[in-house]
Amino acid sequence: MKLALFDDWRVGVVDSCAHTITDVTEVVPGTHDTDHLGASWWVRMCRDFEMLRRSLERAARDGTARRLGDVRLRAPVLNPGKVIATASNYGEHVAEMREVVLERVAGHVDRWLLDFDVFLKATSSIVGPDDAVVLPAGPEAEGREVHHESELAVVMARGGSGIDAAHALDHVLGYTIGLDMTLRGDGDRSRRKSYDTFTPIGPWLVTADEIADPNKLEVRLQVDGVTRQDAKTADMLVDVAGIIAYTSAIMRLDPGDIILTGAPPGVGQVQAGEVMISEISEIGTMRNPMRAPNVEVTK
Ligand code: MN
Repeated sequence: MKLALFDDWRVGVVDSCAHTITDVTEVVPGTHDTDHLGASWWVRMCRDFEMLRRSLERAARDGTARRLGDVRLRAPVLNPGKVIATASNYGEHVAEMREVVLERVAGHVDRWLLDFDVFLKATSSIVGPDDAVVLPAGPEAEGREVHHESELAVVMARGGSGIDAAHALDHVLGYTIGLDMTLRGDGDRSRRKSYDTFTPIGPWLVTADEIADPNKLEVRLQVDGVTRQDAKTADMLVDVAGIIAYTSAIMRLDPGDIILTGAPPGVGQVQAGEVMISEISEIGTMRNPMRAPNVEVTK
């Protein structure tokens, strides 16, 4: 099932050809609060999805389908407790960053900077699959580069601590595309990756039952029609189950939490006016334009 949020955070099911969307909000339990700040129903729905699946499917079958182009798709995640991101999870990406990182640390090999790990991004950085990424004014004035990182994103259904890798995929609600927009250079990862609009997510969740193996997907990103990233999730150093096990040994995973699984090689700078098109096989495509800073910057 392709599960989407649209317009004022209504729940929709997108048809298999991704032409139409059917509003199924009425079968989601609890008061559907269209003020997204108050919306804990989404997290409950992530937790209880298996119990709701049949009524969602029935509502999708019996409801009135609308053209997908007639709605505004939102990020298919709502008020998640955490956005967890993965560092150094593709060997080729580690290789392409190695010289830059070593130069930055002036030969002091802070080896951990090139090691697999997880970190947190601010949930307020999430935007939808058609939304703009806005360059931050201060760093833009300083000439610092903002890079795209197109990544497979995992959304949790059942949470837990100390989840065993062997059962980790049973905890997954679905998969989507996440852009982990990144300010390059000095500074803690969480700060450099948490600017407003720096986590586009979408276009919808493909529920886990429809993805035979999340470690056999293709991740691509184009900027203005030029392919920058073209990778296979099979090349991840730590696979999806391993990331869930590693993370849940540190912090409890809750329903609705998002895990970005790491940047494939080919990251690069994006500038105002350019358009990023990201695609993952079996999931879909999203299109995010780059915007200049919202405020005037005087140098
Ligand atoms: Mn990343």
